[in-house]
Amino acid sequence: MDIKLYNTLTHEKDKFIPIKKNEVSIYTCGPTVYGYAHIGNMRAYIFMDNLRRMFKYNGYKTKHVMNLTDVGHLTSDADSGEDKMEKAAKREGKNPWDIAAFYIDAFMKDIDSLNIDKPEVITRATDNIPEMLEMVQEIVKNGYGYETSKGIYFDTSKLDKYPVLSNNKVEDQEAGARIEVDPEKRNPQDFAIWIKSPANHIMQWDSPWGRSYPGWHIECSAMGRKFLGEHFDIHTGGIDHIPIHHENEIAQDKGSFGHNPANRWMHVEFLQVDGGKMSKSLGNIYTIDDLKEKGVEPLAYKLFCYSSHYRNKLNFTFDGIMAAQKALNRLRRGYLSHKDGKEKISKKELDELEKKFHEAINDDLNMPLAAGIMWDIARDERKSKDFQKLIDKMDMVFGLDLKNSEKYLSNDKEDIPNEILELSEKRLMAKKEKNYKLADDIRDEIKDKGYLIKDTPDGVEITKI
Ligand code: AMP
Ligand code: ZN
Repeated sequence: MDIKLYNTLTHEKDKFIPIKKNEVSIYTCGPTVYGYAHIGNMRAYIFMDNLRRMFKYNGYKTKHVMNLTDVGHLTSDADSGEDKMEKAAKREGKNPWDIAAFYIDAFMKDIDSLNIDKPEVITRATDNIPEMLEMVQEIVKNGYGYETSKGIYFDTSKLDKYPVLSNNKVEDQEAGARIEVDPEKRNPQDFAIWIKSPANHIMQWDSPWGRSYPGWHIECSAMGRKFLGEHFDIHTGGIDHIPIHHENEIAQDKGSFGHNPANRWMHVEFLQVDGGKMSKSLGNIYTIDDLKEKGVEPLAYKLFCYSSHYRNKLNFTFDGIMAAQKALNRLRRGYLSHKDGKEKISKKELDELEKKFHEAINDDLNMPLAAGIMWDIARDERKSKDFQKLIDKMDMVFGLDLKNSEKYLSNDKEDIPNEILELSEKRLMAKKEKNYKLADDIRDEIKDKGYLIKDTPDGVEITKI
């Protein structure tokens, strides 16, 4: 079956034709590891996961690389501001290497908890410095780079076309850039590819231009080329990467080996919170751990992401995520209801359902449509093992770990109202403070409200009377 995918470069959805038969090569821009990733970032990696899984479902071998940016991403995505890693190091009183190690570990835990299928290669920018330096030198040799007192800059006026991905006009960028014109730049939209280190920049390497470090954009150009070569199938990232990071990656690749490396550029839309931007000043940035604290499983967030196509904005609200948590448990129950089902479903019907699902995922990853098909099967009145097998197959793409539904449901506190959970917490506190009278009173109050409470070695067990 054909796979159709949208391409930011052509603004069209068209048939995917692999460079190598039955194999797909993908480069994904990974996180900058200077703090905890938020659930918006995680939407980008859930998209990446779905893309890999869809290809695997279609029988493809995946050759997939994701970087971890541990140096050189400045506070402005372009070429001004402080290195995010060094800023975080100052904030936390650590060195940037420890910051990177800590947040890489946190990121890996998050993607595991979301059951994200990991790229074959996950590589740190600082492990690929020689390749980056080599590329910068090539760019300079080819006449696309020049030195200033701050670093090596890319001369965008040397390109046949810039920008190529976004609709940004160079004149608009020039107007914007006028606010802070760097007189050493040949053109306002030129950007740093290699940055000379101020003495206090901890991460720095030897180069023909003294101690220095790579710019964020050159990192991805060099890692893509090193692990996937100069021509690969797909490059992915979030939509914020289109106007600067990816535009500049393409420019660098042209300046170094002469062409855009990826046949297809794919971008995920943003997760919004309560209809607006997630931002520190609004205090509405949530992590996977924040959700867990509120009793929301990471996999419920994954299911929540399937309520919108990856090219549409997705609006996060607590009502929405709570509903997704309940829906996930309903889905698990529906899945389990088919476990010992004796009903015989015709091969024709099963094939048709599978085809509909396959068409949905192959149509630019239409996960909302695919999820709808799975829901219909989970809810079907006719209980059948064949349906369970079909859902197992579909879950190869959803990655919701439905085969372990029983395990998750045994931890499910969904049916216990918040009021009872709060009373149970109060009772525990009372016990801790050795106020056994109060603890017993609360137990009785809970009983009056229709729930039994039992202390077990694994904690408190609450059941409906
Ligand atoms: P960063 O660690 O800032 O480089 O971002 C990691 C990934 O998350 C990138 O692919 C970004 O485009 C993406 N991203 C950042 N914010 C959001 C958001 N609110 N919704 C979806 N993706 C996002
Ligand atoms: Zn990148």
